[in-house]
Amino acid sequence: MIKGQFPTDKFRTLQTPFYYYDIDLLCETLGVVQSESDKYDFHCHFAVKANTNPRILQIIAEGGFGADCVSGGEIQAVLDAGFPADKIVFAGVGKADWEINLGIDNDIACFNVESLPELQIINELAYAKGKIATVAFRVNPNVDAHTHHKITTGLSENKFGINISMLPTLFDELPRLNNVRFTGIHFHIGSQITDMSAFQNLCIRFNELQEQLEADGITLQHVNFGGGLGVDYHHPNHIAIPDFESYFAQFHKLIERRPEQQIHFELGRSIVAQCGSLISKVLYVKEGDVKKFAIIDAGFSDLIRPAMYGAYHRIENISSDDETEVYDVVGPICESTDIFGENVELNKVKRNDLIAIRSAGGYGESMASQYNCRRLPKSYFSDMI
Ligand SMILES: *Cc1c(COP(=O)(O)O)cnc(C)c1O
Repeated sequence: MIKGQFPTDKFRTLQTPFYYYDIDLLCETLGVVQSESDKYDFHCHFAVKANTNPRILQIIAEGGFGADCVSGGEIQAVLDAGFPADKIVFAGVGKADWEINLGIDNDIACFNVESLPELQIINELAYAKGKIATVAFRVNPNVDAHTHHKITTGLSENKFGINISMLPTLFDELPRLNNVRFTGIHFHIGSQITDMSAFQNLCIRFNELQEQLEADGITLQHVNFGGGLGVDYHHPNHIAIPDFESYFAQFHKLIERRPEQQIHFELGRSIVAQCGSLISKVLYVKEGDVKKFAIIDAGFSDLIRPAMYGAYHRIENISSDDETEVYDVVGPICESTDIFGENVELNKVKRNDLIAIRSAGGYGESMASQYNCRRLPKSYFSDMI
């Protein structure tokens, strides 16, 4: 069993639980995304909700990425982290007026509009400020991402985006709206997508839609294909960087790109998941009738994915090389779903051992809560520890 390399001695001096970020891996991943997307002159945004740690955001901003935000708070966070406003896009089905105003005040690159009433409100709010807001339509392509149903977003039954049948209504309305400027379309079909055929179907659906729109005289200056590329939760050491080469190459191969058309992506998980681990300490080893529990000091308030999606994370005892035994690794929170893994093979666990829950850099810290009046987890970085 190969384990990640961790500075365990230094960890002993820190209060657990905390997030630990491997900055070398983050930078290497950013470099691969840049070089693979540059091949085709694709633009990449970071989907901020995957990780809003200020230092992580700052490093990604320094890498030249744009930001995909889904709330006003995220817009503020990325402005604070140094992302240029003209590289910020704003998606979300329920944008509040103050959030739209924040975007307009800062002249963000684009609002990805998800309904007709939202389009009208953005126009109204921009009018009140004497500004013109750039908008794209988030289209629901009805493509199955073949991922967990709770993170599927591109089916007609999902709340996200505008169904293709509704698009004419929005285009008919546009000429009456003088304070919005339409530039393109946006898709996002889901997350943790490992079946590449989902992206292929998205490309095919895009080509069809583009032809339909062009027949009506609508040209698309930019197209945003969203995010969703999955990571290998089972092999964080061997497959630390997702296959961005194939990912971008298939879009390049399949989409009918028009001259001057800008192509955007918004990757979240695939950029940050593997560089983060949640480090926790064993409080107790409890022998049940049929099971042995490793009770750790991290709970779903620190990392909710297992409780919320039944998600798998690789778990390692980074304090021990003893023979392995099988444990249920559980947190202290008063809910039965506070389980990080069942029947996990770990090097024999004793009190105070350090446990690493891997691939936790995406949708980990950013989803942490204070349920049970718990403290929010801290974060440490490999280059500052
Ligand atoms: C969540 C989200 C993303 C990123 O998804 P990942 O699976 O983390 O790559 C991209 N775009 C939008 C609109 C999103 O909501």
